[in-house]
Amino acid sequence: MQSYDIIVVGGGFLGLSTAYHLAGMGASVCLLEAGDLGSGTSATCSGRAQVSEGHLDDLNILLIREGLARFDGLQEELGMGFEWQRMPYLCLIRSQRLWDSWAERAAVLTPAGIPVELIGAEQLQREAPHLNMDGMLGAAVSLEGLLNPFRFCWAYAQAAHRNGVDLRPRTPVTAMQVTERGITAVQAGSEWLSAGAVAVMCGAWTPQVTAMAGADVPVHCTHAEAYITEPMPGLFHHTYGLADFYETIHGKERAVAIGFSPEPNGTLIITEAVTRSPDIHRGASFYGVTEISRELQRLFPVLAGARVVRSWGAPTAFTPDEEPVIGWLPTRNNLFVAASLVETITTVPLLGEWMATMLLGGEPPHSLAQFDPARFVEVTRK
Ligand SMILES: Cc1cc2nc3c(=O)[nH]c(=O)nc-3n(C[C@H](O)[C@H](O)[C@H](O)COP(=O)(O)OP(=O)(O)OC[C@H]3O[C@@H](n4cnc5c(N)ncnc54)[C@H](O)[C@@H]3O)c2cc1C
Repeated sequence: MQSYDIIVVGGGFLGLSTAYHLAGMGASVCLLEAGDLGSGTSATCSGRAQVSEGHLDDLNILLIREGLARFDGLQEELGMGFEWQRMPYLCLIRSQRLWDSWAERAAVLTPAGIPVELIGAEQLQREAPHLNMDGMLGAAVSLEGLLNPFRFCWAYAQAAHRNGVDLRPRTPVTAMQVTERGITAVQAGSEWLSAGAVAVMCGAWTPQVTAMAGADVPVHCTHAEAYITEPMPGLFHHTYGLADFYETIHGKERAVAIGFSPEPNGTLIITEAVTRSPDIHRGASFYGVTEISRELQRLFPVLAGARVVRSWGAPTAFTPDEEPVIGWLPTRNNLFVAASLVETITTVPLLGEWMATMLLGGEPPHSLAQFDPARFVEVTRK
């Protein structure tokens, strides 16, 4: 049986970045991915390195600030460009309640090193000349990042490969051998592989994979659809989103909230139509494309007639308390789980390294105890 220090299951942002750092730290690593690398949710997301919309606790703010700083020089470090650019985010505000709440958010984030500025309607109209100003009070402006998520996955994959990671795409894990000592072997295709520790980094598929070890990790998901338009170079220069984006979609059977970014060639990547679905699938719906189109034209009449050239759907994973899970499973000695990050792209260059440190028995520079799966221990033991 082939043996490694660490087996990583899942080849998305989390698995690839962690495998890259593990091998860089000298570990022997095998990464098993059911489909193509990045084919889960990572390569098909919008590519935003969000900074201003997440939780306002100290740890999350630190992860955003220091994660974003890691992008300086990351393309050179990984040896491949992923179209990284800093991009202003205009968070559109249409009610006094949201204006007040973003003023409070700005008052926390700005002194913490993540500047957020509120601008009124007049300045917003100058920044966004195509925006329908009906009901607009203004916007919260922050400077986030934007990248090509497919290239971002590929950059980590290539760098991991150079570091010696045994990358195995199209190799789903189908079973795990569990003893009192923990996970002793993992079945991948017709082979059994063994490792000192197994890291499950399977996004929305996490419960299916941890169930193979008899562990119930409460990661749930909703289905989110995204769309790409034909190129419209020079029309937009910001990422846009509605301040009530998350509350519009939260807990709904189906809903549409608008956010979009211009890619370097002028196509717009537009999110998202959300449906609650027990199945994980890739589909886009008639409901999604028509409702997104209606909402978008209401906000930006200039987009009437713009053609959508591609649409798809992907699962968005979340936990019951909407915090990530990162850490060792209390019921299994050597089984590590990481899923449901909040600002995934922003934080993954930092967390990939920290998770690699944890997998090799070390402590990250700041405790991630807040994300410990042990907080769901009651749930995992049911
Ligand atoms: C429409 C949309 C837009 C988004 N936009 C953004 C954004 O702009 N910015 C941002 O930060 N986040 C965004 N997200 C969220 C982001 O995509 C996810 O947080 C991130 O991709 C999760 O990465 P991951 O590595 O945890 O999971 P994934 O990328 O889903 O990787 C998990 C992998 O595990 C594999 N797997 C499953 N079962 C097995 C098995 N049995 N054996 C082996 N492998 C297995 C899967 O095939 C998959 O590739 C968006 C999500 C959606 C749906």
